[in-house]
Amino acid sequence: MADIIKLLPDHVANQIAAGEVVQRPASVVKELLENAIDAGASTIKLIVKDAGKTLIQIIDDGKGMSDTDARMSFERHATSKITTADDLFNLNTKGFRGEALASIAAVAHVELKTRPEGAEVGTRIEIEGSKINAQEVCATPKGTSLSVKNLFFNIPARRNFLKSNSVELRHVIDEFQRVSLAHPDIAFAMYHNEGELFQLPQGNLKQRIVNIFGGKTNEKLVPVQEETDILTINGFVVKPEFSKKTRGEQFFFVNDRFIKSAYLNHAVTAAFDGLLPERARASYFLYLKVDPSTIDINIHPTKTEIKFDDEHALYAMLRSTIKHSLGQFSIAPVLDFNRDSELDTPYDYKNKGIVTPKIEVDRTFNPFENVAPPKRGAQRPEFEKPSAAGWENMYEGMESQATAVSTMTFEKEVSTPDMFESGLNGTMQNISTSPSKDESSTYQLNNKYIVSTIKSGMVIIDQHRAHQRVLYEEFLRNITVKESVSQQLLFPLTLAYSTTELALIEELKAGLENTGFIFGTISGDILEINGIPTSITESQVPVVIDQLLSDLENEVPDSGFSQTDTLAKSMAKSLAVKGGVSLDNMSREHLVNSLFACKEPSISPTNRKTFVTMTSEDLERKFK
Ligand code: ADP
Ligand code: MG
Repeated sequence: MADIIKLLPDHVANQIAAGEVVQRPASVVKELLENAIDAGASTIKLIVKDAGKTLIQIIDDGKGMSDTDARMSFERHATSKITTADDLFNLNTKGFRGEALASIAAVAHVELKTRPEGAEVGTRIEIEGSKINAQEVCATPKGTSLSVKNLFFNIPARRNFLKSNSVELRHVIDEFQRVSLAHPDIAFAMYHNEGELFQLPQGNLKQRIVNIFGGKTNEKLVPVQEETDILTINGFVVKPEFSKKTRGEQFFFVNDRFIKSAYLNHAVTAAFDGLLPERARASYFLYLKVDPSTIDINIHPTKTEIKFDDEHALYAMLRSTIKHSLGQFSIAPVLDFNRDSELDTPYDYKNKGIVTPKIEVDRTFNPFENVAPPKRGAQRPEFEKPSAAGWENMYEGMESQATAVSTMTFEKEVSTPDMFESGLNGTMQNISTSPSKDESSTYQLNNKYIVSTIKSGMVIIDQHRAHQRVLYEEFLRNITVKESVSQQLLFPLTLAYSTTELALIEELKAGLENTGFIFGTISGDILEINGIPTSITESQVPVVIDQLLSDLENEVPDSGFSQTDTLAKSMAKSLAVKGGVSLDNMSREHLVNSLFACKEPSISPTNRKTFVTMTSEDLERKFK
């Protein structure tokens, strides 16, 4: 039999290796930033176009490369950082595999310009899909500039697999933050599509954190410090009252390398035990220094996981150090942990009977005006009719076209147009034409399910999922048809976000505006909102935006991603009525009718069943 085993040609081997090293633009950013740091740079500039899909360029003022080294750097397993296997256990550099440049050059158009200190001229190399197109002398400042264009130009499948720009940009920013947080002594800058996202001068750790996450961060930080034989801990935790429900900034660095560790995260969470509101996550920036010989960073190709020799000891130390810091800054006694922002939503029917004194600001009040203020277009019904508490409010602006398709016939025909009578001006529904309370055709079970009769038997609806479906279709329609209605705010709402978050919001602006948001200026880390969709209240805005940011972050690859879709899903998720909320007859009817007016009433936006039916036959069988 003829021999059939051959060595793969280099460019094929490189492309395969690239699969491991380069998953998305953010991986390129990470590798190049780390190379610049290893080269001893004191200033590093990152330029990104279209979230890195078109261009990623990194300019450093590090030690540069000689003519020969420049050519060598693109070879696989070519590195200046280790020479023997022993070096692996005493790593002081970020890189050591010698794979990054070879892999990147295999899947993109790369241009390298580099000049070492003292050399008169530099070297320029152009390489595409592992093929060198040019190598020549050039004039260039000391240091290295590497640009990576058209990532995955030769692997369309991978290019298509990339997510929307907002998601890819989020990943790029994540890498940029991780690297720049690990090196406050290096100045960093980042630009996206000509706009400046970050300008981080050299400074100390606290200044770096504040520069990245905004001026307000300063007062939120509690310092953490501990030194033992096996470990030094440095850094900050965020005061528990500033922790976020859906997302938090969680950064662990071990020997200046960002790592992820569920185990150590647990240690921090344990230290916060009893201090965090329910479901909130602790935020922290923690820097651990250990002897390099006691860790193995080699267990994962993208190197964010790490193996420690003595994890248990680290866990215990970390927990007690943070507990101590929190105690020392007497965080605990001043907090009121029972307060839950969900109490601010109009869905809290549990408190219905109790009238809590509340300061209501009448935004239309004008002391110089004698006549009664005219009704403003977007006045919310709860001012007029406290008992309705805003449930119908969710349907303001929803056109009655929604009643068009109804696949299910209800036993008792309710005249659906009445259900939507609450128009834009917030007029109350005409109770007399709605079904009266005692001839109810729906029933609520465990404050979670709505039971209703249908011709063939009965239907049991999950109220939360059903409402998600209704809102989802409504938002989707608004975003695509651009017919949403806004309520103008007399006083703009100002919310503080980090630069990253603002960049993401910027990407989503058009979509958000179509749902009814009206944005004002962004200055520094403050976002101004001048108008909001009629379907939400001011107090829900931060919740909606937070949820949205976190959904984009956790976007799952196989869900047929589209930004519009995520936006609609996310808003529906945060605004849908939760389980545990009691709904009055009218709200129940309303929900049932709206659900069956949906295009796809049977599943929630996340593909879960919204209702189950039980036919008379099913029942008869059960009674046999
Ligand atoms: P590694 O970082 O694992 O050594 P890379 O493929 O990332 O592998 O880089 C290969 C080599 O190219 C490095 O070892 C280094 O000598 C050189 N190099 C890469 N980037 C730079 C840079 N920005 N400045 C100076 N030298 C660099
Ligand atoms: Mg490297």
